[in-house]
Amino acid sequence: MDFPSVRSEPPGLGLPLCLIQGDPPARISRVKVTEILAVGGGPAGLTAGIYAARSGHTALVLEKAFAGGQMALTSEVENYPGFAGPVSGMLLAQTMEQQAARFGCEMLNGEATGIAADSAGFEVATTAGSVVARAVIVCSGVKPKLLGASGEKELTGRGVSYCAVCDGPLFKGREVAVIGGGDSALDEALYLTNLAARVHVIHRRDEFRGCKFAQERLRERPNVDYHLSCVVESFNGTQRLENLTIRNLKDASTCSLTVGGAFIYVGWLPNTNWCSNLVALDDAGNVKTDDKLRTNVPGVFAAGDVRNTHLRQVATAVGDGALAAMSAHDYLIGKR
Ligand code: NAP
Repeated sequence: MDFPSVRSEPPGLGLPLCLIQGDPPARISRVKVTEILAVGGGPAGLTAGIYAARSGHTALVLEKAFAGGQMALTSEVENYPGFAGPVSGMLLAQTMEQQAARFGCEMLNGEATGIAADSAGFEVATTAGSVVARAVIVCSGVKPKLLGASGEKELTGRGVSYCAVCDGPLFKGREVAVIGGGDSALDEALYLTNLAARVHVIHRRDEFRGCKFAQERLRERPNVDYHLSCVVESFNGTQRLENLTIRNLKDASTCSLTVGGAFIYVGWLPNTNWCSNLVALDDAGNVKTDDKLRTNVPGVFAAGDVRNTHLRQVATAVGDGALAAMSAHDYLIGKR
């Protein structure tokens, strides 16, 4: 199979990918061809795009929503090296996208829906048409885990949310709840203290999983109430969220908490439906990789939160993206 260049006009131009319209419907089945395809435009995929393009390959990053993935929805990133103060996840995402574009990496706005392999490479089906690639890097990240409480699904988008940066401003001056005890819950609770009149942090244990630094910063805020060893039994409301029913796990008592918004941060699930027919996953659905981020399929690599990793950070996703792209490069060189 011949693989001509995909490079065309300058991609991205620094705009979030959500602002870039996909191909018109008449061209939706068009096949794009590239050497290295990164599926997912978070920090792993954008870094893979930078390294792949800088190594002289045609490179394409597929992103379903906007550049940066979960990182772009993070109010402040404090532990990514190179910035003395906190930096907005959205700004980091836009800068990474511009950097990838500078090296000629193409961005495509679409969602991967399937993958097939043949002797020449891979064909990834996407909502923007299919993409043929000689090597694929799975960087499709994670989606929020649902709590599973009564009323959660019905009131999602009507007070129940999984994104404080997106929906927090809707609750300016009101009372909100954050559910979870990891870094995401603590960071986003901190962000919400700047907007909401009061933030209720509800965690199922007495100890937080999130880092001590974030715990201390949150404790300095005067408008936080803690509901520890507590779980949400139900999200209640007719048209919109009106209150939560909370159960204390120590004494089994229940109480009602009046809040306008509830932000759920209880972990994440890998986005692997589109490739689970081909690549091996662990029991939690994460892509299994070796030390060079190779999957069980030669020519398919994985990077970032979607793979079986012990640490899910912007810094580790960026490192993964670089390593996966160079492993893809080695694979393609070996094939030449
Ligand atoms: P996480 O670390 O998996 O924490 C999930 C939290 O939700 C835990 O406190 C867990 O409680 C709780 N939880 C899970 N299922 C629950 C349920 N059914 N009901 C009630 N509570 C439930 O997830 P995360 O906070 O999103 O972080 C994911 C990864 O990203 C971590 O590696 C984290 O360090 C990283 N991250 C880092 C930063 C940062 O460095 N600033 C920011 C965000 C995320 P238990 O503790 O009892 O298990």
